Order: sequence, then structure tokens, then C-alpha cells
Amino acid sequence: ELEVALKVVIVGDGGVGKSSMIQRYCRGTFTRDYKKTIGVDFLERQIEIDGEEVRLMLWDTAGQEEFDAITKAYYRGAHACVLAFSTTDRDSFLALHSWKLKVENECGEIPTIIVQNKIDLMDQCVVGPDEAELVARALGCRLMRASVKEDVNVSAVFRALATRCLAD
Ligand code: GDP
Ligand code: MG
Repeated sequence: ELEVALKVVIVGDGGVGKSSMIQRYCRGTFTRDYKKTIGVDFLERQIEIDGEEVRLMLWDTAGQEEFDAITKAYYRGAHACVLAFSTTDRDSFLALHSWKLKVENECGEIPTIIVQNKIDLMDQCVVGPDEAELVARALGCRLMRASVKEDVNVSAVFRALATRCLAD
């Protein structure tokens, strides 16, 4: 049986929850003090889409994003991208455009979903719902809202990306 393997890169400012998202999806756990590096390049999870086995390899940045030092090897061969920002960090929202360009420069146009993480902290929200939609539309991406902490929409994000990749 044919197995599809997809490399997914997770980009966005430090602290938005990228490592937590990967850990949540691949290991089913969440911690407040997540280590900056997971010690490996990626974690993986296998899912089934329309009877097809799909192996998702989720690549983590090990904190390099804070030094703008993400290497080409990180992006190389990526099939899909999660562009993440935090509900409580306006700068991370304003950085979406530049993250999109970085991915585009290395990978060309690949299926990309913008994820607004930490919606469990809506009482501290610093990004209006309309402006998030506007930016997503301007960047040509779907917007999904998630809470890695409460496990809201995390699986849905990766399922949607994989489905897009299979359809292409
Ligand atoms: P990264 O730098 O983008 O990899 O972010 P991390 O995964 O290291 O997460 C940064 C901090 O945000 C950690 O303390 C996480 O526990 C926390 N965090 C991640 N996702 C959520 C979420 O959905 N809700 C809340 N309240 N905290 C989160
Ligand atoms: Mg991290």
C-alpha cells in the first residue's frame, strides 16, 4: 500500500506555541514549561484520510526563530505550512506577513493555514477578529483558531492541511 509522507513546517514568533502544538498533536501532552528544543528535527503522526495513510512530519524550530536563524534545511522539501500567532501577542500577529514571505522564498507556494493559538486566553486578546480575517485573506490563507492548551482545533488544522496536500 502506498504511503504518503508530508513535511509540515510550523513557523511564527517565539512563544506563540509552535513546539507545544507539535507536542500536543504527536504526543498528546501539554506543559507550561516546554523545553525550547525537542532534541530531534521533527515529530510525526500517522493519520488516515479517505482511506489513505498519511504520515505527517511536523518540524520544530528549536528556538532559532528568535534569532532569525532558521536554516534552509528546515524549510527544504516542505509540503505544507502552519503560520502561527498568539491571541495575546500583537507583534506575533504583525509578523505573519514576513513569516509568509520567508516560507515562500524557500518553498514557493505551499498549502498554508494561519493559526491563531491560545484562544483560551480570549480575555487577553489583542487582535480583533476582523483584522485577523483581513490579514488571512490578504495572505491567501485559511484562518483557524486553536487552543493547544485545551486541545481545541489542533487535529483539525493538520487534517485540513493534509487534505489540501492530497487534493493538489
Ligand atoms: P514556541 O516558542 O512557539 O515553540 O512556543 P512554546 O510551545 O514554547 O509555548 C510558549 C508558551 O505558551 C508555553 O508556556 C506554553 O505552555 C504556552 N502555550 C502554548 N499553547 C498555549 C495555549 O493554547 N494556551 C495557553 N494559555 N498557553 C499556551
Ligand atoms: Mg519552540
